[in-house]
Amino acid sequence: MGLPGSALPYQATDGSLQCLAVGVIVGLLVLVLLILMAYQRYLAKKRPVQHLCRYCGRLVTAVSDCHHAPVKEEFLHGVCQACKKDCKLVCPTCHRPV
Ligand SMILES: [Zn+2]
Ligand SMILES: [Zn+2]
Repeated sequence: MGLPGSALPYQATDGSLQCLAVGVIVGLLVLVLLILMAYQRYLAKKRPVQHLCRYCGRLVTAVSDCHHAPVKEEFLHGVCQACKKDCKLVCPTCHRPV
């Protein structure tokens, strides 16, 4: 008679333990993902970004279109290191946009 009543607390404990386990696993996965993203950013900052020039068909380090100087690359554009202005990224060999 007392069985259903006494089984309930155990089930409840089981359920919350499972919830806890799932929470911990999800938390760990998110942590791993964040570490991977931080690592990728670190790598991207460390080495110059290479672009494939469609005209010479080579992997090149982009330069600015105004001074053909090295650029600090942002998303889809860059900052010319010679005049510190916004510039386009071009191929150092053929001076065409990459
Ligand atoms: Zn080129
Ligand atoms: Zn410039």
